[in-house]
Amino acid sequence: MTGTLITVAPTGAEHAKPDVPNLPVTLEELVAEAKACEAAGAAMIHVHIRGADAKPTLDLRRLEETVAALRAETNLVVQLSTGGAVTDPEADRLRVLDAMPDSASCTMGTVNFGDDVFMNRWEFIVELHGRMRERRIVPEYEIFDLGQLATLHRLLDQHGLPAGEHVHVDLVMGVPGGMPGDPETLVAALRAIPAGATFSATGIGRTSLPVMLASLSAGGHLRVGMEDTVSFARGQRVRDNAQLVARAAEFASLAQRPPLSVDEVRPLLGVAQSN
Ligand SMILES: [Zn+2]
Repeated sequence: MTGTLITVAPTGAEHAKPDVPNLPVTLEELVAEAKACEAAGAAMIHVHIRGADAKPTLDLRRLEETVAALRAETNLVVQLSTGGAVTDPEADRLRVLDAMPDSASCTMGTVNFGDDVFMNRWEFIVELHGRMRERRIVPEYEIFDLGQLATLHRLLDQHGLPAGEHVHVDLVMGVPGGMPGDPETLVAALRAIPAGATFSATGIGRTSLPVMLASLSAGGHLRVGMEDTVSFARGQRVRDNAQLVARAAEFASLAQRPPLSVDEVRPLLGVAQSN
């Protein structure tokens, strides 16, 4: 692997706007952040949207408007989260696919998420995988713990390869309740990733930098963004998402694996040219 896919996750569903005033929550803020992140080296955007009250929503009309705006204003691969917030019902999470993004997240199991439970039953996973295949939406298989890689093998064995026929995994590390964000765990996860798959990794909070460096050293790709961390350094809040993307791009370039362009990422992930 000669280059690095940088995905930006600018918003998430966890942070409250009053606590993090620079979190992009309106469509205008999201598009502005997306453009800045693309210029800084991101090739894919992982999107959770917010309603007029700045709280997480899975409103289909709003999702469709978001996909359209990001396609019009950027060249980024647009990935919608099907995780929503931990309280969203399964039917609403499945309906996200009707907004027809290039890619969508597909989480491989249930995990304690701080004080909450992020529920992903086997039947739900199978339904999500199947509907993505029907719609030719490329999944990113989100892994919060090592056992979820066993679920991924079971899914691919029983239900076939995804659209694009390439498997891309995102290791989400350091969630309280999931796998720790450290190099040992990253290496353990790599042993269980399907042959031929590519992977990204992101470390939540203070595991952000160790996971980034471990992933680069292991030939992996990177996800960064304010969904995962709002702290840039000790005692220093993140200025904006582009600051995190720029740092990731700098590390990737120092590692002789500079950021991949969108045109390089689409064939890598099996995402069709949609623009
Ligand atoms: Zn997310």
